[in-house]
Amino acid sequence: MTPEDARYPDMIRGHGNNRHVASPEAIRIPSTTEQVVEIVEEAVRDGKRIALRSGGYCFANLVFNDESEIIVDLRLMDHVGFDDEREAFVVEPGATLLQIYELLHIGWGVTLPGGGCYATGAGGALLRGRSRHPLPPARRRQRSHPRRRGRHRGRAG
Ligand SMILES: Cc1cc2nc3c(=O)[nH]c(=O)nc-3n(C[C@H](O)[C@H](O)[C@H](O)COP(=O)(O)OP(=O)(O)OC[C@H]3O[C@@H](n4cnc5c(N)ncnc54)[C@H](O)[C@@H]3O)c2cc1C
Repeated sequence: MTPEDARYPDMIRGHGNNRHVASPEAIRIPSTTEQVVEIVEEAVRDGKRIALRSGGYCFANLVFNDESEIIVDLRLMDHVGFDDEREAFVVEPGATLLQIYELLHIGWGVTLPGGGCYATGAGGALLRGRSRHPLPPARRRQRSHPRRRGRHRGRAG
């Protein structure tokens, strides 16, 4: 997507934050890991500076700044599920906290204590963007243990 595209103005700033606006020459919107690899290889070959955007829920100008030449917008990569082969939950970077909460809870009865800002993206949050600690692993709700129930209350937000 280039500046001529009607969607461009909506893609060059973060979620609810108009302070920082980028002017990249292109925004790429991959939906598979293979496409991400292709985009990164192409950018490296052409000497372009890339910036990754997942939820866009960052108040700093880490993505939306004058130096970002290619923004890789990962919002279409938002799958949340269970990988039978690896026996592990899979959360793609574009998934928001709201998607993660709903799908993990409804699908498997587990959750992550991740805070109340539902638009936060997994890409930034899982890589320690959120606070001093990474999000802990998914866990079953501990309804029968009131002491544990309040353990993570108020840690993020
Ligand atoms: C008002 C506010 C409320 C918040 N509330 C919460 C909360 O309730 N819970 C919580 O957990 N956190 C919260 N946070 C913190 C939030 O987790 C971090 O700001 C996080 O970095 C946002 O991630 P994002 O993907 O939404 O943002 P983005 O702006 O998309 O990314 C943030 C940073 O991570 C990098 N990044 C994004 N995706 C990837 C990727 N796939 N691989 C490598 N790098 C990547 C970006 O390049 C950028 O440097 C809050 C932040 C704000 C500003």
